[in-house]
Amino acid sequence: MAKKDINWGELGFGYVKTDYRFVANFKDGKWDDGQLITDENIVINECAGVLQYAQTCFEGLKAYTTEDGKIVCFRPDLNAQRMADSCERLKMPVFPVEKFVEAVEKVVAANADFVPPYGSGATLYLRPYMFGSNAVIGVKPATEYQFRIFATPVGPYFKGGVKPLTLRISDLDRAAPMGTGHIKAGLNYAMSLYNIVDAHDNGFDENMYVDSATRTYIEETGGANIIFITKDGKVVTPKSNTILPSITRRSLMIVAKDYLGLEVEERPVRVDELDSFAECGLCGTAAVISPVGKVVDHGKEIAFPAGMTEMGPVTKKLYDTLTGIQMGRLPAPEGWIKTIG
Ligand SMILES: *Cc1c(COP(=O)(O)O)cnc(C)c1O
Repeated sequence: MAKKDINWGELGFGYVKTDYRFVANFKDGKWDDGQLITDENIVINECAGVLQYAQTCFEGLKAYTTEDGKIVCFRPDLNAQRMADSCERLKMPVFPVEKFVEAVEKVVAANADFVPPYGSGATLYLRPYMFGSNAVIGVKPATEYQFRIFATPVGPYFKGGVKPLTLRISDLDRAAPMGTGHIKAGLNYAMSLYNIVDAHDNGFDENMYVDSATRTYIEETGGANIIFITKDGKVVTPKSNTILPSITRRSLMIVAKDYLGLEVEERPVRVDELDSFAECGLCGTAAVISPVGKVVDHGKEIAFPAGMTEMGPVTKKLYDTLTGIQMGRLPAPEGWIKTIG
């Protein structure tokens, strides 16, 4: 097999059709075995639960080539578990964790020609998702579902170099106190679109959401968790029941403690503490860490000392260490790297 003729370094973050996707169907109370198919289109009833009542959730992870030429994924079992949690909250049938990981392996192996080479900075992004597929007009959970995983090659995140982001404190909310902020549901994104477009229209890269109940504590952005570095080098991340538990952020906290010997803290972080931090970064699968240069709180600018031109020194160390582990340049904790094939 030969790698596809793709200019890996020039790829953006967009959909590119690959050869195979995995599909499994839930019907009569059970999942079928699932299979790889080539058709990228889905035909469902006009009244499908996903179309009427947004009964859907998703995951995101990457396959890539390590320094020694292996194709691997990073902690796919955590994506499987998080999807199970999302499904339970949305009254969808759980796709078993082991089957999820197997399906990831199948999709990556079948699309191995689309896994970018080591050093390109590009990766094969995997999108597992599930949706209610049969007709439901009365408000209730669907009885039939599809679980799917497609793959799409994506380019290096920091293509034109690292550019620290400018965030604004948002007036709109992402998650209600007892709502669905902690699960990866499409509905959380549908209602964030207005606000992200508005942020961009006003010159901001992202919205920094605060807790809806008191507007006192920092939560996360629309699609990434947040870490802060204190002036004495401690790594702090907001603690809240309405934050989506990012696998990248959880891994970074372990890396900070066990690899870099830094003090780590997960605790409520107040908006009025922002100006006490030295560095700030957004964590997620796509970028690993994206540095934040400043936050604007209703006209008041909070500029982090790390500046607007590069990653802060601690953020950089965290970034280099976690990407080093992912790429096989540094030894990984047990179970973090799943080799395909
Ligand atoms: C997916 C997601 C993240 C990042 O999670 P990772 O597992 O690190 O990719 C953060 N916040 C939200 C709201 C998300 O949907």
